[in-house]
Amino acid sequence: MKTHAQIVVIGGGVVGCSVIYHLTKLGIRDVVLIERSELTSGSTWHAAGGFHTLNADTNMAALQGYTIRLYRELEEITGQSCSLHHVGGITLAESPERLDFLKSARAMHRHMGLDTELITPEEIRKLSPITNTEGVLGALYDPLDGHLDPSGTTHAYARAAQMQGAEIVLRNPVLETNPRTDGSWEVVTEQGTIIAEQLVNAAGLWAREVGAMAGIYLPLHPMEHQYFATADIAEVHDRADELPHVMDPEGESYLRQEGKGLVIGFYEQNCEPWAVDGTRWDFGHELLDENLDRIGDSMEFAFRRFPVLADAGIKTIINGPFTFAPDGNPLVGPVPGLRNYWSACAVMAGFSQGGGVGLTLAEWMIEGEPSRDVFAMDVARFGDYCTPSYTRLKVRENYQRRFSVSYPNEELPAARPLDTTPAYGIWKSQNAVFGDMYGMEHVNYFAAAAEEPYEIPSFRRSNAFDTIGEEVRAVRENVGINEVHNFGKYEISGAGAFDYLDRIMAGRIPAVGRLSLNPMLSPKGRIIGDFTVAQLSIGVFQVTASYGAQAYHMRWFEQYLPESGVRLSNISKQRIGFQIAGPKAQELLARVTRADVSTAAMPFLSISEIDIGQCRAIVQRVSYTGDRGYEIYVPWHNQAALYDILNSAGKDLGLRPFGMRAMMSLRLDKSFGSWMREFKPDYTPLETGLDRFVAYDKAADFIGKAAALAEKEQGVSRSLCTFEVDAKDADAVAWEPIWHDGEVVGYVTSGGYSHYAKKSIAFGFLPLDLVEEGRQVEIEILGEMVSAHLYSAPLFDPKNEYLRG
Ligand SMILES: Cc1cc2nc3c(=O)[nH]c(=O)nc-3n(C[C@H](O)[C@H](O)[C@H](O)COP(=O)(O)OP(=O)(O)OC[C@H]3O[C@@H](n4cnc5c(N)ncnc54)[C@H](O)[C@@H]3O)c2cc1C
Repeated sequence: MKTHAQIVVIGGGVVGCSVIYHLTKLGIRDVVLIERSELTSGSTWHAAGGFHTLNADTNMAALQGYTIRLYRELEEITGQSCSLHHVGGITLAESPERLDFLKSARAMHRHMGLDTELITPEEIRKLSPITNTEGVLGALYDPLDGHLDPSGTTHAYARAAQMQGAEIVLRNPVLETNPRTDGSWEVVTEQGTIIAEQLVNAAGLWAREVGAMAGIYLPLHPMEHQYFATADIAEVHDRADELPHVMDPEGESYLRQEGKGLVIGFYEQNCEPWAVDGTRWDFGHELLDENLDRIGDSMEFAFRRFPVLADAGIKTIINGPFTFAPDGNPLVGPVPGLRNYWSACAVMAGFSQGGGVGLTLAEWMIEGEPSRDVFAMDVARFGDYCTPSYTRLKVRENYQRRFSVSYPNEELPAARPLDTTPAYGIWKSQNAVFGDMYGMEHVNYFAAAAEEPYEIPSFRRSNAFDTIGEEVRAVRENVGINEVHNFGKYEISGAGAFDYLDRIMAGRIPAVGRLSLNPMLSPKGRIIGDFTVAQLSIGVFQVTASYGAQAYHMRWFEQYLPESGVRLSNISKQRIGFQIAGPKAQELLARVTRADVSTAAMPFLSISEIDIGQCRAIVQRVSYTGDRGYEIYVPWHNQAALYDILNSAGKDLGLRPFGMRAMMSLRLDKSFGSWMREFKPDYTPLETGLDRFVAYDKAADFIGKAAALAEKEQGVSRSLCTFEVDAKDADAVAWEPIWHDGEVVGYVTSGGYSHYAKKSIAFGFLPLDLVEEGRQVEIEILGEMVSAHLYSAPLFDPKNEYLRG
């Protein structure tokens, strides 16, 4: 084994092998993969080998499509067969809700160029005569689905990488990984020590243990998973063509042909986390004890759905472990807090996702950023709140929900509540319905006193609709109050703070007492944050953005932090408080402070420190509701007192608490985009209108400046637009295709119902040549074409006169 390498990858499963293949494909030759045993010695050898493109995240789905298309290329390069069977796959719908779900997936596929289609029970029987379609309403057919040989495919990746210079060292456990002062890693193995400039953890079943060698916890957990293969079955044997895969969500099973028999696997409710206290180092090519009792109900269901199974002999039963992150997507990218340490772990569908994971990681390591938004699999989408027990509970929930319908308004219950603020009890006593983000509870809306505090998951307008409308009207007509705890908040201070912010933010850094809206760009000019930056006193800044992006943003901040002169702290949980917004907000604030809160003294986009009642507070005059409003921040321990002060003073002004659902409706009135919907690394400032906050002419060479200037020079081909939609009971959510003249020309980024204007609104991209006031388009919502037209003046306070007044 060499003693030095540019990149060392730990783990020779399908993911590690894909990583080295892609690194070499992008030109890195000095790559060493170290494997404890033989290639495929973790989850990989157990796999049923199925692959599919379906994923709720469009970029994940695109990467799955990339993975599937890659196999032919690998076969051609290496001559090693992957035993590909492109037989297509059918996902059954047994309820109207499931059909809606599949319709929305189908719609999403249209602008991704995926050729899925909805088929009838009769067509299902034609494609898969062994399927009993009783109770089935329809299905989604995906011609790309299929299966392969897991071992052959892993070796094809490995061989292709070796052909381009990668070295693979087998039977050599990594024992230690020690950081060195120059940022490289000392990797101690049984066969000696190698220095790695960059280190990749692709240790699959042992990723937790390998992570611990570097002092980190990666939030993933293995689950047991069972499938069985039958002996030959006459109805299969006699067919000329291979049967397609059938995913039966109601029965929580997937089925495919194997030889002249069938393979069927289950994602059962009664599932088992495996190796809770860690994966044994001597676990190898062995199976876990089968446990047919656990899948008894699922098997009974399967016998009804596929009657041929009832008389088939079982040839083999496989029970093997594989790993999941809390949301089921992989953990990929630079690990926050460490230098030159990368994760390629928690890949639960290695044969659908392995290629995309390898490509993404290689691009990130070599080019500095992936070629598309990969937040859905970024290791930094989770934070410190993900403890091992939290992860285990969420992973179990995710496994159980593998075949569940995911509704846009759904909140998942496992491991909650975790993080709460002092206001949690106050809201709970007011019949609040909670959601959570990044482990923190927030109010979605307040159910009427007589109602159960529960929003029924739905693709259509939910039971919360009327109440949300009342909350919106309280803000627009009087004054509303909600929490500002679910912003990510950072204090950046010191002699070098201004220059540091001037470098990492694309907008102007505000003077003392002022705040500015500030995009943060990647070197390629993509949007990686939409911040509010406020200068509280000379060299002391409060910077706020999405709560869910804390680890993501901290990783970036730390990457560019100078060695001295700047202090950076994440104060998201320490500095919390409330927002008050609406025409009576100013009057309310005036009642609780001796400070002058007139517009002259506290104008729009100002920040000041004042006393409110007995509390010292930081007040920003800005509001995402688009109304006249104030964000009031206090230390964590003053929040309950602040609430009492505002609540008592606001009673006769009609003060009413409102939740995130109302907030998301209010922002529609102003055409305000939001993080990970309109603003994300797939988009640029000029495409989204954020260019108005980019200080192209500022002296500082901010990150992404060259790319932003080049974009300005060249122009863009699409633009973010706002549409009024003639929706009846289902509003656009995201990814719905936008049609014009019988063609898909764009897609929705987000949408909803404006309770203020009583209109259904959607934001989405259109090619520039179609952007025109009043442009008529159609938006495909749940399989129906709904007419819509483009408009540009916001529905509420279009000239911002009231906001600034
Ligand atoms: C029963 C079952 C059925 C499945 N069916 C499918 C399917 O149909 N389709 C699909 O896409 N996926 C399926 N999967 C999931 C699939 O197997 C995984 O997604 C995939 O194998 C993950 O690969 P990996 O490379 O991340 O991890 P692993 O396969 O676990 O590989 C990790 C490697 O790292 C090595 N390693 C660990 N620690 C060290 C160390 N200290 N030093 C050196 N080497 C080390 C291990 O020996 C191992 O070879 C199934 C899994 C199971 C269990």
